[in-house]
This record gives sequence, C-alpha cells and structure tokens, in this order.
Amino acid sequence: MSGYELRAQHEAADPVGRETTRWHVLRQGAFVAMCGYRIDPVADTRPIADVHAIAPECRCLQCWQWWDAVEEVWAEGSPREPEP
Ligand SMILES: [Zn+2]
Repeated sequence: MSGYELRAQHEAADPVGRETTRWHVLRQGAFVAMCGYRIDPVADTRPIADVHAIAPECRCLQCWQWWDAVEEVWAEGSPREPEP
C-alpha cells in the first residue's frame, strides 16, 4: 500500500516545543488531509503502514473512517478508492 502517509497535527507545548495531538491520513505530498484539515508543511510524517499502530485517542476519526473504507474496497480486489 503506497501513495498515502500519516501527518501530525501539532499544538504548541508548554513551555517550549510542540506536541502531537492528532494524526491524519493524506495522499503523499498533499497538504490537506482526507477530513479537510490543512497540515503544517513541517509537521511530522509517518508511513501509512503505521496506521494501525497509532493510539486510538490520537487518530482523526474522519480520516480513519475513510481509511477503513479504502482498505475494505481494496480487500475486495478493487483498485478504486472511495471519495472522502
Ligand atoms: Zn483528519
């Protein structure tokens, strides 16, 4: 599975640095997640293979629902992907 990646949504951490609050699913090289969230270009990236390793409380619900639909469609052997 390629063509997708996970990008982090960060929030400023106290007193310095940044915290990852949520992960989103994006097409590789895109800056807008499947849920419509605009990703910071310097946000952390993880391979899409980690999608099931992300803690449930850190998942963007909309992105994960879309991803579940993609995996289902692909499991049926279709190269197609559902519209977000
Ligand atoms: Zn999202």
